[in-house]
Amino acid sequence: MDIRLTHQQIHDAASQAFDRASKINGGKNASYIPYLANIDPLLFGLSVMLPDGTAFNFGDTTYRFGIESVSKVPTAILAMRQHTPAGVLDAIGADATGLPFNSIFAILLENDHPSTPLVNAGAISACSMIEPKGDSDAKWKAITDNITELCGSAPQLIDELYRSESATNFNNRAITWLLKNYNRIYDDPDMSLDLYTRQCSLGITSQQLAAMAATIASRGVNPVTHKQVFDPAIAPKITTLIATVGFYQHSGDWLYTSGIPAKSGVGGGVMGVMPGVLGIAAFAPPLDDAGNSVKAQAAVSEFTRILGLGVMNGDRVTVAG
Ligand code: GLN
Repeated sequence: MDIRLTHQQIHDAASQAFDRASKINGGKNASYIPYLANIDPLLFGLSVMLPDGTAFNFGDTTYRFGIESVSKVPTAILAMRQHTPAGVLDAIGADATGLPFNSIFAILLENDHPSTPLVNAGAISACSMIEPKGDSDAKWKAITDNITELCGSAPQLIDELYRSESATNFNNRAITWLLKNYNRIYDDPDMSLDLYTRQCSLGITSQQLAAMAATIASRGVNPVTHKQVFDPAIAPKITTLIATVGFYQHSGDWLYTSGIPAKSGVGGGVMGVMPGVLGIAAFAPPLDDAGNSVKAQAAVSEFTRILGLGVMNGDRVTVAG
């Protein structure tokens, strides 16, 4: 079927989705990272960006929250830019674990692969792959420059979050050294973990995440800067990873319900990609049992429901001004 959407329809759907999701409560802030436990649980923002750069924003869309696991997406893209999608498949894998994001069991089950760059194990492994090897400052610059290119504006490190997370990341230290045991850490292990922890501690806004999502939806062309940020062949690969494991053990339920591949973070962010059509991001701190924002999920799935959008629908969607 052909679906033709106007800017007005997209604006109205986002506005309605925001209003309805505002009334949905439930969930709890992440408590295992002290900084996140103290964020105002009532913050809520919803942002949509189209490939032509048109943006629709509702609520707290300029508030900088911890990007957390949404950072796994840009760094997986960077690993693909530097090593090709086939190289990332070989070094890390592209399988859903069906288990929590920080699962050690998942590594033991598949001791020849960290599974996917979008769980903690694979993300730490991806940080270890980033060039130039052995140079923490240069690797950090590559990671943040890539995020800046994808968003069209720079993220900012939240020092307090970085300290909070570094002081409590014992499980991730165990993951790192277990992966080292399986030869899946491709640089210094402590440096790789530190880069991962730091990228999770970047502050980002829902407006920036919607721009990143729209860049992926536009096969690497940033709608704000018009720059081709990455090879178009990477877009379906990263969207596949997002679809298969973006919500961890709830990824199937999520895609089944919402129809849109999306990635969550324990800072409360959700970033969704509708290939060729739009990018969407929502933010609200309280999380469900898998670490996915309750209100952000409601906002994004309500938006796709109102417009009848879904990657599996087989519709050809065009957006006119
Ligand atoms: N920094 C967090 C961690 O490693 C990210 C987890 C998440 O957002 N799901 O536990």
